[in-house]
Amino acid sequence: MKYEFRVSELAEEFGVHRNTIRNWIRSGAIPATEGPGRRYLMEWADYEELCRKFGKTPIKPGRGSGFYDEDVVEEKPVPIQLYRRERTIATDPQLADVCLTCGTCSSACPISGVDGMGPRKIIRMAALGMDDELKELKWYWKCTMCAKCEEACPMDVKIVQLMRKLRSLTPRDKVPGPIHKGVVACLERGNNLGIPKEDFLFLLEDLGEELAEELPGFKVPVDERGARILVTVNSKEPFAEPDDMKWWWKIFYCAGESWTIPSDNWEGVNWGLFSGDDEAMKTIVGRIVDNMKRLNCEALLLPE
Ligand code: SF4
Ligand code: SF4
Repeated sequence: MKYEFRVSELAEEFGVHRNTIRNWIRSGAIPATEGPGRRYLMEWADYEELCRKFGKTPIKPGRGSGFYDEDVVEEKPVPIQLYRRERTIATDPQLADVCLTCGTCSSACPISGVDGMGPRKIIRMAALGMDDELKELKWYWKCTMCAKCEEACPMDVKIVQLMRKLRSLTPRDKVPGPIHKGVVACLERGNNLGIPKEDFLFLLEDLGEELAEELPGFKVPVDERGARILVTVNSKEPFAEPDDMKWWWKIFYCAGESWTIPSDNWEGVNWGLFSGDDEAMKTIVGRIVDNMKRLNCEALLLPE
């Protein structure tokens, strides 16, 4: 065991001038060695001997007593730990952890600032584990999923994927607007607006006849096996703007293109993608793939 001291402390303890202590150390009367921070070390036995000479009782070992014991494991200070929050949203580094906070995404986002929203804020909150706050703010429902932010991001952070993940955590009955209803209609009836098959086929025939007056021999090809392009349809067109479909058809006619529209599962807008419903999205995509295979098409035209 060693005794650790400053010259001034030992001088005070024994009631002598600090120069006296220094001289004793220099002369070897106190066999001490110099340590770090202007402190000295001497053997415990030498300290006891010094005390005996001065008729003093050695200070008992203890915290702050000046004793230094090589065998005693020093109590190490506990490092300060930041409060760790459970993260469920940003589990993949590319969903947030690699973000530089440069803000390029927010500059590129067309809706940055709407209700205080910005992709950088969302990414930072996800990285910090502010899952509950993110869910509460619901910014991710304002996102148009245009992916401009992601295109601009120098770190290739998967911002849109994060938005979809956030949306997927919303209970389906809390999904805002009509998109979840559209998903249900699409799964049940093959298109987002639930247009019956016979109404759709009648419309195609009717519009085809109208166009034939302008383009001789024109007919809307439905379920034509071996056509080159499978054409899907945004259900809002047959529902509200049927004449818009004619523009595509005129181009196909003039280009001599080989194309067809499937009579079932012709919806080209996948609201499962927008609502964060992965299972529905897969089912809807799978149906399009099935149509491609069934009709042996080479290319696919999606309206959006
Ligand atoms: S995907 Fe969403 S967050 Fe990104 S730029 Fe478009 S609207 Fe903004
Ligand atoms: S652009 Fe990318 S790196 Fe920069 S703040 Fe946005 S997410 Fe982070």
